[in-house]
Amino acid sequence: MRRYSCYVFDLDGTIYRGDEVIDGAVEALKELRKRDVKIFFATNNSSQTELAYVNKLVRMGITAKVDEILTSGRATAKYCQSVGARRIFVVGEPGLVDTLVGEGLGVVNFNSLRVHPVEGKVDAVVAGICRDALSYELLDSAMQCITAGARLIGTNSDATYPLAQGKFAPGAGTILSALATCSGTKPTIIGKPNPFMLFHALQANQILPSETVVVGDRIDTDIMFAKAAGCTGVLVTSGVDKEAPNGTASIGGLQELL
Ligand SMILES: [Mg+2]
Repeated sequence: MRRYSCYVFDLDGTIYRGDEVIDGAVEALKELRKRDVKIFFATNNSSQTELAYVNKLVRMGITAKVDEILTSGRATAKYCQSVGARRIFVVGEPGLVDTLVGEGLGVVNFNSLRVHPVEGKVDAVVAGICRDALSYELLDSAMQCITAGARLIGTNSDATYPLAQGKFAPGAGTILSALATCSGTKPTIIGKPNPFMLFHALQANQILPSETVVVGDRIDTDIMFAKAAGCTGVLVTSGVDKEAPNGTASIGGLQELL
């Protein structure tokens, strides 16, 4: 395969499934580290901070630095800042709350993801994967914020995400759909395929999209993300999608990148 100066890897379904590293990932990353290339890991999963992803990768035998991790949670925080949304109601996990608060945003339900009713004006409802706190009451509180004027922002719209042993679980898109339906609002979606997450990283490192390859397991997020950002997309068939669209390369495992 052609050599690129920048490699962007999806995580779930590309590097690992649940807590299992995917065959070939450790070897491929080790080999790429020997070359003079830039590496990023871009995940739509907003449940964890960058440090948590670094620790997970290191446990699997893959070296990574915090500034190489691009998350939909961080990108969502940056987006909220860019549109002046400062008071946020979160339908998500503690990692997302930490990321938003770390960027100086006010999370109105910081101490309890079940606040109802919410005091004062809320600028945005941010929805991501929300496994422990999701409840009818939480959806109701979020809906009241949106109908009172808050914008609806989704960290990502993945319908599902891959687990170990070939299983799948409902993703953030499932929760976002519920909020969009009850509030009659079209959400702004920040994660892949929106190229927002990658543009800042490429600009900051003076990397051209044409020199960048995005490797991921989903056509609707990773491959469309590559296209939207002007990068080359490569589908790896270790996760969700098994057949690449016309004009897109497909590989069975990351070792085929070398
Ligand atoms: Mg994936």
